[in-house]
Amino acid sequence: MALADAVGTGRVTARAVAEESLVRTGKAQEAFGAFLSMNAALTLGEAEEVDRRVNAGEQLPLAGVPFAVKDNINVAGRPSTAGSKILAGFVAPDHATCVARLVQAGAVVVGKTNCDEFGMGSSNENSAYGPVKNPWDPARVPGGSSGGSAAAVAARAVPLAVGTDTGGSVRQPAAFCGLVGWKPTYGRVSRYGLIAFASSFDQAGALTRSVDEAARAFAVMAGADPRDSTALATPVPDVLAAPGRGARGVRIGLLAEASSAEGGLHEDVKASFEKAAAAFRAAGALVTTVSVPRVTLAVPVYYLTATAEASSNLARFDGVRYGARRGEASLAGLYRETRSAGFGPEVKRRILLGTFALSAGYHDAYYGRAQRVRALLSRDFAAAFRGVDAILCPTSPEPAFELGAKTDDPLAMYLADVFTVPPSLAGLPAVSVPSGFSRDWLPIGMQLIGPGDSEPLLFALARVLEDASGALARRAPGAVS
Ligand code: GLN
Repeated sequence: MALADAVGTGRVTARAVAEESLVRTGKAQEAFGAFLSMNAALTLGEAEEVDRRVNAGEQLPLAGVPFAVKDNINVAGRPSTAGSKILAGFVAPDHATCVARLVQAGAVVVGKTNCDEFGMGSSNENSAYGPVKNPWDPARVPGGSSGGSAAAVAARAVPLAVGTDTGGSVRQPAAFCGLVGWKPTYGRVSRYGLIAFASSFDQAGALTRSVDEAARAFAVMAGADPRDSTALATPVPDVLAAPGRGARGVRIGLLAEASSAEGGLHEDVKASFEKAAAAFRAAGALVTTVSVPRVTLAVPVYYLTATAEASSNLARFDGVRYGARRGEASLAGLYRETRSAGFGPEVKRRILLGTFALSAGYHDAYYGRAQRVRALLSRDFAAAFRGVDAILCPTSPEPAFELGAKTDDPLAMYLADVFTVPPSLAGLPAVSVPSGFSRDWLPIGMQLIGPGDSEPLLFALARVLEDASGALARRAPGAVS
């Protein structure tokens, strides 16, 4: 990043960069509701610390790079609400590991971003603190659940934002806001300090404007962590030299099921998908079609297994240890009143759904069966990757939709995730990259999915598409700088 080089060589101070970014952050907050909290004193203090380290001769890969963090990820000394009233007043005691790694690399936190409550949503309309608007068109959603993180980067308040991706929450907002968004191979980035939604899916990822920045964020955030037993201990694949390697000879499979997706594929998305395939052919890739038959079952399987995990993870919010507390006259009253008042409707719906799927009489019919299909889907992917090196499909079946368009129909909202949940179910890495625009200049994103640990290949391919689409050259009309 040019900014990191400028700070790292002392041409500009991290403090000056942070001051400017705080102003932009304020503007993005006002225009789009992208942030839930800021703390200028903490930000400037961290920036000064970076300046001290630079002056002492430390080499920092992200020196002075301002970044925003989704509010379901802990940053020491700052509130973590996860977009929920139930965590109002909770201040994180320490950094999530991915945040600690970015800070260690010289990056500076400028604020916590708005999100769907506990990461549950595809439009950021499930935040207890109000929706976020899309900087490309404020009448539209920025995607979810990392909608605030996406809006912050698209509005150019910050060049980098961290999000969490359980079933698409980094990739889909990236697509809606014209950004690059990646989720790693499951376990590649530590989950320590993430407020759990569905532990066997949750991963931290990043949103940036370019593929190069995406790879730099991955290189810093990825790595083993003794505080997360599911974090991979194997060496992190080297992604830094990957963008620029091209696509020559790479076997790319167009997802056969994409065109028949339930609910249909928007015409402009279809056209962009075809253009992306042509761009890869032109770059020397061997483009074919590949079938992953059970992706058609991914949405119901995801909404059974993820809600089951959520019902268990969210049991800890009972008024005893964290955040808001109500009804202290009796223990049952404490639980009931704290949870009734603290959780929003979507979170309650999922707790009910997940509790039902796990209940004694229905466990085998729902949760057990969904787990079996999940395993079969992984096998489908493994079979597909014997014939191709990576799979290409749209990130979302349509560009950003209007605020309110799906709020009355949870099933329609869930279908927005049809392409992002399959790799999450299988623990595979995936990157969303801008591939062009709709007729009315809304960004469109394509998703590249690869086998475990294929991040270097995915970033190389993403860069090919980034170059071919020219999407990087356009700025959101709502950009604040
Ligand atoms: N939209 C999906 C959901 O609502 C994914 C959310 C996420 O990845 N956190 O569950």
